[in-house]
Amino acid sequence: MVLRSPKEIQEIKRRLLEHYAQAKTELRYKNLYELLVAVMLSAQCTDKRVNQITPALFERYPTIEDLAKADVEDVKELIKSCSFFNNKAKNLVAAAKMVLERYQGKIPTDEKELIKLPGVGQKTAHVVLIEYLNKNLMAVDTHVFRVAHRLGLSDAKTPQKVEEDLVQAFQTDLAAIHQAMVLFGRYICTAKNPKCDQCFLYDLCNWEGKKRGEPKSE
Ligand code: SF4
Repeated sequence: MVLRSPKEIQEIKRRLLEHYAQAKTELRYKNLYELLVAVMLSAQCTDKRVNQITPALFERYPTIEDLAKADVEDVKELIKSCSFFNNKAKNLVAAAKMVLERYQGKIPTDEKELIKLPGVGQKTAHVVLIEYLNKNLMAVDTHVFRVAHRLGLSDAKTPQKVEEDLVQAFQTDLAAIHQAMVLFGRYICTAKNPKCDQCFLYDLCNWEGKKRGEPKSE
C-alpha cells in the first residue's frame, strides 16, 4: 500500500528526477549481450564486484556465440568471486545457447521472451529493459526496497508488491526513477548510517530511524 498523498508523491518524484537527471547503471557494458550478462551476475552481488569480473569474462567470451560454446567449468572459474557462481555459470551458458537456438542469436527485448532465458527472472528482465531501452518499468532491488519503505511509498513485504506500489504511485518516468532510487539508496539513504544530513528528501521522510535535527539540503 502507498502511504503518501498524491502531492507528496509528486514532490518525491520531482526531486528524485532532478537530482539524478542522467542516472544510469553503474554496471559497465558495451552492448546488450554484456548488459544482460552483467545484470545476471549482479543478483545478490554488488555492481563493483561484477565490474571486476566482467572484463576477463568478456575478453574470453566476447560474443553470445562464444559464450554459448563455453565450457561451464571455465565460466565458473572466471566468475568464482561472485555469489552463486555455480548456478550463474550454468545459466549464462544455457541462456546464450537458447538465444542462439531460439532467437537466431538476437537477445529478445520483449519481456515475455526475455524471462524465458534460464536465470532471467522478472527483475533481471526489467533492469535490462530499463537500462537498454528506457522502458517504463520498475525493478525492486535491495536499495529500491529500502528507500520505498523509508519514504512511505510502500509497506509491502515482497519486492513484487513493492514494485506494484511504486508503479501505482509514480506511473510515468519509472525507468529514471528506478535508476535514481538505486543511486539514492546506495549513496545517501544507505542501509546503515543513512546520510540524512545530505538528504534532499529530508523534510518528506517520516521514517522513525531518520536522524533528527540534521540540517537538510534540498
Ligand atoms: S532523511 Fe535519511 S532516512 Fe529519510 S530518506 Fe533521507 S537519508 Fe533516508
